[in-house]
Amino acid sequence: MSMNNQGRPTRAGEASGPELGTISGDRGLDHEEPLIFELGRPGHSGVDISDVQVSDARLGGFKRRAPIGLPGLSEPEVVRHYVRLSRMNYAIDSGLYPLGSCTMKHNPRLNEAMARLPGFADVHPLQPQKTVQGALTLIGELMRWLTTLTGMPAVAMSPKAGAHGELCGMLAIRAAIAAKGERRPRVLVPESAHGTNPATAAFAGFTVDEIPAKGDGHVDVAALKAKLGSDVGAVMLTNPNTCGLFEKPIREIADAVHAAGAYFYCDGANFNAIAGRVRPGDLGVDAMHINLHKTFSTPHGGGGPGAGPVVLSERLAPFAPLPLLVHDAEGFRLIEDRAELPEGARPFGRMSAFHGQMGMFVRALAYMLSHGADGIRQASEDAVLSANYILASLKDVMSAPFGDGPCMHEALFDDSFLEGTGVTTLDFAKAMIDEGYHPMTMYFPLVVHGAMLIEPTESESKESLDRFIHVLRGLAAEAKAGDVERFQGAPRFTPRRRLDETAAARKPVLRWKQPELKRAAE
Ligand SMILES: *Cc1c(COP(=O)(O)O)cnc(C)c1O
Repeated sequence: MSMNNQGRPTRAGEASGPELGTISGDRGLDHEEPLIFELGRPGHSGVDISDVQVSDARLGGFKRRAPIGLPGLSEPEVVRHYVRLSRMNYAIDSGLYPLGSCTMKHNPRLNEAMARLPGFADVHPLQPQKTVQGALTLIGELMRWLTTLTGMPAVAMSPKAGAHGELCGMLAIRAAIAAKGERRPRVLVPESAHGTNPATAAFAGFTVDEIPAKGDGHVDVAALKAKLGSDVGAVMLTNPNTCGLFEKPIREIADAVHAAGAYFYCDGANFNAIAGRVRPGDLGVDAMHINLHKTFSTPHGGGGPGAGPVVLSERLAPFAPLPLLVHDAEGFRLIEDRAELPEGARPFGRMSAFHGQMGMFVRALAYMLSHGADGIRQASEDAVLSANYILASLKDVMSAPFGDGPCMHEALFDDSFLEGTGVTTLDFAKAMIDEGYHPMTMYFPLVVHGAMLIEPTESESKESLDRFIHVLRGLAAEAKAGDVERFQGAPRFTPRRRLDETAAARKPVLRWKQPELKRAAE
């Protein structure tokens, strides 16, 4: 078996024509899967249809002059194609998904059943509002849960992801600053922040000023205070932070930010660690996005869909974007028009054409109602317990830079345990794939070298965590024993092996061309 330039065994037939040899290059029961256009043959079809006799006159100018290039396959071929493709994905439904910062938890099937109820699934955003009172009631009820859990007076529902929610919050802050006639172009962001934070601040027109982290993984409060001034519009802070640690002086930070006339944006992606235990409103937060697709289940990954509602403080609530959901004598109503605004409302604009992700809203509310406030609190506590179990079970063989105290919902390791082995964080992560696990988050946060961030969530059983710990302990031992080749060659058991990640980002090939056309173009 030879290897092609992607490091995958060459399929027989790939280089030498269409006939299959004895060695397919497929592994176990996982098949290499071509595109459906490469599989199809002209003239093949899933059904037998006799030639339909329609006169040319009736078709008029619409009669096709040439085939349109649909792939021709039988029904079983089509089914197998898509099932095989689905098996090339790793999913929370196929195993533990330890990505830190992502909260990859189990998505209860109950939520799916609710989201598929025709009254929710078939609703259209342009329906007359009196025909969608049920859907609007559901959004209103979800808003009540979000404001109650966060202790904040208002929430904007239209942002479609965490990053979109950040933008919404920062645009509200920009509008509030402008309304006061002030100029505050600077935003302070800790160096441990998720990349979306500085990107959002810059996109909203601010300049980004970094706050250093201390050696213990916490934000340097003295450095933060020293940077505050009359030109600072906001501080963007994540709590628990991206090292999995709770920033205890958060009230002190909020007070200093407010005293300087600035606003406090909190990245709420890690709300799964504290929901039901701490209300961000009590901590002095002015704006915080909630990733419904992280904290409140609802499937995510692969780029969406998501939902990132933003809770707003009293000071920012007037600037919430359109549409506004109000409840009056006639029922629920979405205000889309500035002429109808309630007193005091000064929306900065709108985030999207419609009012949010209905399917995500249904799933999130189903999660909340089925757990109840107690259950949400229990989920947060169990998520923190699971992460501490991982930290305590691995810190003797993997290096944990902040492993002294307990962590919150994620356990952070660095690569110092690999020093001198020739194995990198990337190699270690790739070797996990061969053991049947999706890698943890790698090289984030940037404040530790070769970071490995593990978030087990509350939805893994102790047995599942024990298996995972056993595998990581085994890999750590093999790395230290000097089996470099096993790591550098990993993954071995996947249809695709090491990809050129730089080329994938810089020179993406986004379009498939028929081989004949490709050759002709070259
Ligand atoms: C996931 C995440 C975001 C961004 O959320 P998206 O929904 O992916 O846009 C922002 N900050 C942190 C800390 C996150 O983990």
